[in-house]
Amino acid sequence: MNNEQIKQKLAAVWEEIKTNCRYEFEFTEFSDNLFIKPLTLLDVADGRILIAYDGKNDVGKDVLERKVGTPLGAIIPLYLDEEDADVTLEFFSPKEAEEYRQRGRAEAQPAQSKAALTPMQTNLNPKYTFDNFVVGNNNSMARAAALAVAEAPGEFYNPLYIYGGVGLGKTHLMHAIAHYALEHHAMRQAKKPENERVPFNVMYVTGEVFTNELIEALRGGKSDTATAEFRAKYRNVDMLLIDDIQFIIGKERTQEEFFHTFNSLYGNNRQLIISSDKPPKDFSMIEERLLSRFEMGLTVDIQAPDYETRMAILRNKADDVQLHLDDDIFDYIATNIRSNIRELEGALNKINVYARLKHLDITPELAKEALKDLVSPNSGGVAITPELIIKIVTDYYAVTMDDLFSSKKSRDITIPRQVTMYLLRQYTDMTLDEIGDYMRRDHSTVISGIRKIEKMIGADPSTANTIDALGKRISPD
Ligand code: ADP
Ligand code: MG
Repeated sequence: MNNEQIKQKLAAVWEEIKTNCRYEFEFTEFSDNLFIKPLTLLDVADGRILIAYDGKNDVGKDVLERKVGTPLGAIIPLYLDEEDADVTLEFFSPKEAEEYRQRGRAEAQPAQSKAALTPMQTNLNPKYTFDNFVVGNNNSMARAAALAVAEAPGEFYNPLYIYGGVGLGKTHLMHAIAHYALEHHAMRQAKKPENERVPFNVMYVTGEVFTNELIEALRGGKSDTATAEFRAKYRNVDMLLIDDIQFIIGKERTQEEFFHTFNSLYGNNRQLIISSDKPPKDFSMIEERLLSRFEMGLTVDIQAPDYETRMAILRNKADDVQLHLDDDIFDYIATNIRSNIRELEGALNKINVYARLKHLDITPELAKEALKDLVSPNSGGVAITPELIIKIVTDYYAVTMDDLFSSKKSRDITIPRQVTMYLLRQYTDMTLDEIGDYMRRDHSTVISGIRKIEKMIGADPSTANTIDALGKRISPD
């Protein structure tokens, strides 16, 4: 295959490669977020796979090589034909990647002007379509509403507000709406000049990117033109999709700007679609006027999938990668992984990679072995001690034991510390005083730490998932 073909092939499975990397090499969520998630496929050039680190953290190339070089080096060749599989990886910092892309753009300029005529959103995942979205009791309302706004933007529910826990399909649905709208409303009739056909303009953006772009526009003295450009960009679209709006809520200036964007679009009958991890009224920092805008349209939720839906999603996904498995293997996965579809897919990938790395057929035993750590890392029946809990928490959050016992007050340490207190209380016989002594904290700090986690579990599905996952690691039953 030539470079371009290899690049396309890898690009199509890039997310899957990253998921495999995470699970097969047992990265914690923290390290996954820091090292793996920000990696994008930059280019392929004669056996060299160029990988860009598009994260905001200052992670050096040598660190990346050390952390993800070996895992990715093992996994990427699995996706290539044998004669292409001998590859080296090169990592690019955000700045280097940008330079590389600029160079590419400059070289590709003449050929590109034609393509620019068709509106295209390159930040959409081609796999996230309505066709690939499995409908179950948990998401049928959300899907129906999504399809309705995709078919007739601006006419029924405006805004459409979709909320639900992590990995349950919000982003998938948002992309599906955007794909559908781009395909079916490729052109719309412009009001002025009479009858001129102009492209139907769809913009998909995450709350985080929206925030960053605004900050960028406001920075420095030249903010007038930059802010005007920012406004024009967001207010001249036919459909605006903002994914994970929670990033915006509570950030005063961004929230304000978004409010005006909202009004401008809404006033012109343009469709707004918003996703979030919680319903509008659950935001404590939201402005009343924004809340009332959100509530003007339709709010739908996505719940965790039931057993049948989990089975259907697994079968679909397996078909997709041409993996033929017995029902008892699907059943094993669907029974053990419940709360998150991303994890469900990750489990399937993990079994697949495990079998390929070991050159074994996929049997129920192999599936159990491959998923051992995901399902119940402590199934060997190790006694539940404070030390075990500390080990599980520190692994999960990528913090050290010294951090936990220290007086550091940054959030990335206080949360794991409070989670430890909570888990010690749940899984051992220790009294609050004993936990305090052990953690070098006083009684009241322990109480308030545990309460805080209890509250977060109630209010935030992703914390509930995390505690659930940690619980499984501590004790399989
Ligand atoms: P969220 O944005 O809610 O965190 P995503 O949309 O990123 O979740 O979904 C996580 C993964 O699960 C994606 O790979 C997505 O394609 C898949 N997924 C979620 N819901 C469904 C569904 N109903 N049918 C098929 N795949 C799904
Ligand atoms: Mg999402």
